[in-house]
Amino acid sequence: MIVDSHGLTTDLLHLYIQSQKLSTYAVDRHKSLWHAGKTVLDHARVFGSDPDSPGDLLRLIRTGSARTRGELVEATGLARSTVAQRIEGLMAAGLIVEIGGAPSTGGRPPSLLGFNGEAGLVLAADLGASHSRVIVADLGLNSLAEVEADLDIDEGPEIVLGWLIDTFDRLLAEAGRDRGDVLGIGIGVPGPVDFERGVAVNPPIMAGWHEFRIVDRVRESFDVPVLVDNDVNIMALGEHWAMEPKVDDFVFIKVGTGIGSGLILGGRLHRGADGAAGDIGHVQATSSDAICRCGNQGCLEASAGGAALASKLAKLGHDAKRSSDVTDLVEKGNKDAIVAVRDAGRLIGEVVASLVNLLNPSQIMIGGNIAKAEQHLLAGIREVVYSRSTTLSTTNLQITGSALGDRSGVTGAAAMAIDYLLRPGNIDRVLEKSAVSS
Ligand SMILES: [Zn+2]
Repeated sequence: MIVDSHGLTTDLLHLYIQSQKLSTYAVDRHKSLWHAGKTVLDHARVFGSDPDSPGDLLRLIRTGSARTRGELVEATGLARSTVAQRIEGLMAAGLIVEIGGAPSTGGRPPSLLGFNGEAGLVLAADLGASHSRVIVADLGLNSLAEVEADLDIDEGPEIVLGWLIDTFDRLLAEAGRDRGDVLGIGIGVPGPVDFERGVAVNPPIMAGWHEFRIVDRVRESFDVPVLVDNDVNIMALGEHWAMEPKVDDFVFIKVGTGIGSGLILGGRLHRGADGAAGDIGHVQATSSDAICRCGNQGCLEASAGGAALASKLAKLGHDAKRSSDVTDLVEKGNKDAIVAVRDAGRLIGEVVASLVNLLNPSQIMIGGNIAKAEQHLLAGIREVVYSRSTTLSTTNLQITGSALGDRSGVTGAAAMAIDYLLRPGNIDRVLEKSAVSS
């Protein structure tokens, strides 16, 4: 048996047996079929797929690029009979459904195909430093149950993950579902993550989590693929998921206690070789000489992060201990706080200007705690970015606030799990196996 880093297993004999069941289940469309689909999805691994594979047809249907068999024929150049056969397979797995008729050009109207978001559930969690959000969602990312809670990540992985598993069970019960309905899990944590292994590596604010096997712990209760990433990457994924139309080159910057960014390049999250991409908090901001908690001098977050701003304001005699105190002061119209946030915006702008010259994104979105003082932060960032980046790279550049606010992280954690489960390579393998038995 092969087990990959996300706990996906391939056992050929088992798959063969399951694919036999798939054809038996084909009688009952809803309940049994989705169970059959689930079982094979469970055992799917990432494999390469040809560009016109069944998984790709599903992607065309999901994205609305093609809605009928005719449009799929046109989009892929495949024979009508091949498209029909692949659609049948996707329907048998419960992944697509007919959702009524399209306008006819004469004769019988072609039936419209839609992705069946109800084909299964994912569980998602955005575990923050002191506050977490957990949801149960279907594959269309409709939230079925949701909860927020104050929980200190420093309690350590056993306590936090024990709470998380209890919370998953409680939310499933609330949604009238159970563990058997869950296809995958996405989790975000507030520290650096080696994505391939699903472990936090030397996280500065997560006592006891270094190298802890998060995936294994969760899979003791839920035997499905579990994906773990850092909080900023999942926020970027969440905002990108919700964006309409989608921007392919997009940078999400979180300005909270610390500062970090998530990079979507060419429509995909860029994690880098070790999962450390986007760590702009420790890029040197040229006009600053502050000492950072990482030991270096002049790091961006040592001057412009929420913790740095709070201590700056405390020195001026204001009651500020953490980043939320800074935004509270700004809301009350405190001049020192407004100046501090605007200056922080300019410093962030220095680093963002370099990033714009290097990556040429078309949208930069600013989120996180300090971004609640959006007006002042964005003003500072825009001022520097537009004056220091090249004309060409800023022609179509938009710098905006977050669209999803506090929900970007948990949305992204769910999106990460769904995208993984529905990758063409995964879907194709499911259908390949069901074809073996037919
Ligand atoms: Zn640093």
